[in-house]
Amino acid sequence: MIPASMSRGLPRLRFESAEDEHHFDKGSQASRLRYFLISGWVSLLIFNGFLVVDWLVSPDVFALGVLVRLMIFTSFGIATMLVAWRYRPVVLALPSGFAEGMVVMTGVLAALSVAVVLSSPAMRDSHWSVHYHGGFVPVIMYGTVVQRLRFRHAAVFAGIVLLIHWACMATGPREANAPVIPMLLFVSSVAMYTLIINYRLEYEERQQFLRHQRSQVLLAQLDRSRIELEKASRCDPLTGVANRRAFDLAMQEAWANAVAQGTPLSLLLVDVDHFKAYNDFYGHPAGDQCLRTVAQTLQAAVSTHQGLVARWGGEEFAVVLPGCALAEAQDVAARARHAIQVAGLRHERSPTAATVTTSLGVASAVPINGGDWAELLARADAALYEAKRGGRNRVSTLHRPEMLAS
Ligand code: GH3
Ligand code: MG
Ligand code: MG
Repeated sequence: MIPASMSRGLPRLRFESAEDEHHFDKGSQASRLRYFLISGWVSLLIFNGFLVVDWLVSPDVFALGVLVRLMIFTSFGIATMLVAWRYRPVVLALPSGFAEGMVVMTGVLAALSVAVVLSSPAMRDSHWSVHYHGGFVPVIMYGTVVQRLRFRHAAVFAGIVLLIHWACMATGPREANAPVIPMLLFVSSVAMYTLIINYRLEYEERQQFLRHQRSQVLLAQLDRSRIELEKASRCDPLTGVANRRAFDLAMQEAWANAVAQGTPLSLLLVDVDHFKAYNDFYGHPAGDQCLRTVAQTLQAAVSTHQGLVARWGGEEFAVVLPGCALAEAQDVAARARHAIQVAGLRHERSPTAATVTTSLGVASAVPINGGDWAELLARADAALYEAKRGGRNRVSTLHRPEMLAS
C-alpha cells in the first residue's frame, strides 16, 4: 500500500516506516555515488567551459579564472572524486548524508570560485559584472537537478549559493544602472524552479520505491499461494494423504523409474471392511474420523519404505511401494492390516471383528519392457476382491508371473 502521507498533496519526503526509509536510503546509495562521480566529471568540464567568458571579459579576469577554476577548484574536484572512487566501500559504509555533503561542498566551492572572480577589481569595473552572475545558474542546477541531491540537501545548497550570489550583488557592480534586480530575480527564480523539479523527482523516486516494495510483497504472497494451491491440488482434504491425482503422478514416476532401473514396484489397494455399516451406526462424522485414522495408520506403516499413501476414493486407499518386491510388499501389507485392526476403532456392527478391519490386495512387478501400470492396478484390484471374497480382514495376492512385458 502506498501510505496516505505519500499520496496527499505536498507530503513530507519521508516514509512513515523508519525501515522503509533505511532501505530506500541504503538501496540507492551505491548507484547514487556512481552517478555523483560520473556527472561530477561532466560538471567539471562545463564549469571550466566558462573560462571562455572569463577570457571575453578581460585578460586579468581570465588569469584569475584559470587560477581559481582550473588550478584550484578543478584540482580539488578531481582529487575529491578520485579519493571517493578509490575508497567507495568506505564512503558507502558511511551514512548517505556524507556523499550528499561532498556534493554540497563541491557545489558551494564552485559558487565561491565564481564569487572570487566577481569580486576582482577588473570584474567589478566591467560592464559584464552583472551578467557574470548568470554563472550561478549552472552551479545551482548542478546541485538541484544534475546531481539531484536529496531535497533537504538541495534546499540548503540552493540557499547557500543564493546567499553568495546576493552578497556578491550587494558588494558588486560599480556600473550605474546595472540590471541588478532582473539578474537577482532570474537567478533566484531558477533556484526556486529547480528546487520544485528536485522535489518532484525525489517524490516520484519514493513512490516508485513503494510500488516496488509492494510488488515484492505481492509476488511473495503469490508464490506462497501457488505453493499452497499446488499442495492442495495433490492432497485429499479429508484425510490429508495424497489424492487420486497425486497417486497417478507418483505411480507414473515410480513406474518410469522401475522401467529405467529394472527394479520392482509394488502396489497395495486397501478397503475398509463393512464401512457402510460403520457409517450407519456411528454416523458420518465418526466415519470421517475413522477414515483419517486409517489413513494415518497406513502412512505410519509404510513410512519406512518410502511408500506413498493415497485416498483412492470413498473408503479405499492405494499405497505405492517403489523398489519393493512381492515378499516385502506382502509383509508391509500384513503389518498395515494388523496396525489398523489394533488402532482402537471399535466397530460393533462388523461381522468380521470387534474393531475396524481392512482387506488388502497386493500386486508386484519388475517392469522390464516399458508398458504401463494399468495391469498392475488391475491385479491389485483383483487381489483385493479375493481378500473380500475370502472373508475380509486379510491380505491377498494373485499368484501370477511377476514380470510384466509391454
Ligand atoms: P465392504 O466390506 O464390502 O467393503 O463393504 P463396505 O460397506 O465397506 O462398502 P460399501 O461400498 O458398501 O460402502 C462404502 C461406504 O463408504 C458407503 C459410503 O457412504 C461411505 N463413504 C464413502 N466416502 C465417505 C466419506 O468421505 N466419509 C464417510 N463418512 N463415508 C464415506
Ligand atoms: Mg469399497
Ligand atoms: Mg469397504
